[in-house]
Order: sequence, then C-alpha cells, then structure tokens
Amino acid sequence: MQPQPAPGTVADRLATVRGRIAAAADAAGRGPEEVRLLVATKTQTADAVLEALAAGVDLIGENRVQELVAKAPAVAGRLADGTLQVHMIGHLQRNKINQVLATATGLETLDSLDLARAISDRCVRDGRTGDTALDVMVQVNVTGEDSKSGVGPEDAGALATAVAALPGLRLTGFMTIGARLEGSSEQTVRAGFARLRAIRDEVLASGAPGTGSATELSMGMTGDLELAIAEGATIVRVGTAVFGPRPAP
Ligand SMILES: *Cc1c(COP(=O)(O)O)cnc(C)c1O
Repeated sequence: MQPQPAPGTVADRLATVRGRIAAAADAAGRGPEEVRLLVATKTQTADAVLEALAAGVDLIGENRVQELVAKAPAVAGRLADGTLQVHMIGHLQRNKINQVLATATGLETLDSLDLARAISDRCVRDGRTGDTALDVMVQVNVTGEDSKSGVGPEDAGALATAVAALPGLRLTGFMTIGARLEGSSEQTVRAGFARLRAIRDEVLASGAPGTGSATELSMGMTGDLELAIAEGATIVRVGTAVFGPRPAP
C-alpha cells in the first residue's frame, strides 16, 4: 500500500509536533526550550526540507551521506550563516568521512573508537580542533538487538571517555534509536531511554577530560517522543509526523 499524503502543510504539522513536545516537557516538569526538535529528512526532497526551514526548523538530520551531499547546496546559505545545523544520524562508513565533514555540523552515530580516531585525525589535519572540532555523539544500542547499530550499553562509557579525549572531536552527548513501541511495552521503551540517561550521567560525573560537554540525549521519534522527553531527551528526531509516511524502501 502506498502511504497517503499527510493532511495539512509541513508548517501545520510542525506546529502540532511542537505542541506535543511542549506538552510532554510540561508533563515532565521541564521547560519546552529544554528539548530541541531535529527534523529527520531522509527520502525527502530539497524542496520539502526548505519548507521545513521556512517554518522555523534549525536542526535537521540525514541518514545517508549521498542524500546529505545531494541536499547540501539547498541549505548551504543557512549553514554558512550559522542558522542551521545538520546532523548525520545514519551509520557512517569510513570512506565517506570527508563528505560528512564537508557538509554536516555534527555526527550522532559514533559507535567505534576506530571510526572516532579516523575522523579526529582528519579534523586535526584540517586544523579543526578546539572550537571547530566536530560535534559527535556516541550511539548506544540500548536494547541489545543485533539488528541495531550502536555500541552496547556496557561499553558506552569507555567509548565516550576515549572519544572525549580525541583532539578533533567534541563529545556532546549520546544517541539511541530505542526499542520499537510496536512489539514492546511502553515500560521497555522507557527503560531503554532511562538507560541512555544513566550512561550520560555517569560519564558527566566521571570528570574525565572532554566529557563536560556531553550533556545531550538524542532519543525519541514520531511514535515515542513523549516517553523520551519524560526520560530526559534534549533532542527528539522526528520525520513522519512532519512530512507524512515515507514510501517503503
Ligand atoms: C527516520 C529516523 C528518525 C525519524 O523517525 P520517524 O519515526 O519518521 O519520526 C529518527 N532517527 C533516525 C536515526 C531515523 O533514521
């Protein structure tokens, strides 16, 4: 079955998503400004992305390097004037590091020290250290499912500490995809998010060099953003609720 176009405009649906975020933050005793909306733009056209930007979006995420590069010219002005951030939220292959560094402002899917070292080395070679180092998050597979990328929860702290010490990278926090709400209970989904928060808190408390900036928790999507916000999400990544259902791959 082909997905039906979602009713309303991108701007209308963004307003609805922002309402959901504000209500969830309020219910959790948090301010709406404590949760940033990242709009996941995979499979969307550059025009659809521009529509979202016109409606006030300042953070987008791409899954595939090819799409990141293809849409880069459309958002180049906003990247150059610093009013847009672009995060890579899909798995990154080593041979694509240069393309990501040229177009993305951050990488949320770091899950190995080898990859981290390769990116850091490239940044150092390009003179990107200190304030211009690449923002990265460690992706954690909180459910332990084989099908998901990310480092296991038991290894996340050690990886984060090692990443934080690399000169070309700035560790900003942790990301997870989480358990699917269909097929697991709300409790299971929430427990995964809580696990990510506990990992972050432990790394922050360690005081290890470079870990002080690791405050972000990127978790929660269209189906479970309320649960993620209840567990402390600082970034929710939303695609379907903004653009409508994606065609099946
Ligand atoms: C597609 C995607 C999202 C958004 O998912 P929706 O359910 O469409 O909101 C978030 N994070 C990642 C890593 C994604 O690939």
